[in-house]
Amino acid sequence: MNTQHYVYELENTLNGMKYIGCRSYEGNPVDDKYYFGSSTLMPVNKRDICTKTILSTFNTRHEAQSEKTRLLNLHDVTNNDLYYNRKISSPSEHCVGYKPTQEHKDNLAAAWVGRVVSDETKVNMSVAKSGANNPRFGKTAVKRTCEHCGKTVGNNMYVRWHGSNCKSLNK
Ligand SMILES: [Zn+2]
Repeated sequence: MNTQHYVYELENTLNGMKYIGCRSYEGNPVDDKYYFGSSTLMPVNKRDICTKTILSTFNTRHEAQSEKTRLLNLHDVTNNDLYYNRKISSPSEHCVGYKPTQEHKDNLAAAWVGRVVSDETKVNMSVAKSGANNPRFGKTAVKRTCEHCGKTVGNNMYVRWHGSNCKSLNK
């Protein structure tokens, strides 16, 4: 089956908000039922709460994009709070295709790598601060008694305020 280019409408069944997009798909658009647009303006659970309606199908991307632009203008989406669409794109922009561009793939890969590194870092930080790896694990605080004023304090307090720094030396 040839690539089909279609215009679709998503409707959020919870609040009635809509999104109009276009898409190129290698096959019958009705089989493309798991695609719910790439807009980051949509809720992340859009597949659960939105319905998808295929409005029209075309033989070229340009026709589909032109129809999408016509609908966006028709509904004045830039000023219409009922639509997630916020920008009226020009017909020269490409529809979202079935095959992502290499740049898009690279972006996806970079985003994914970033997430993995981030999670690993979190795990490492968590391990480093817990149990036997914690520098304080198994140690009791070292206390020292100041030879000048006789107070027993933690080692860090001793170094800062006692010993050769003890206030009692200034008396
Ligand atoms: Zn002291």
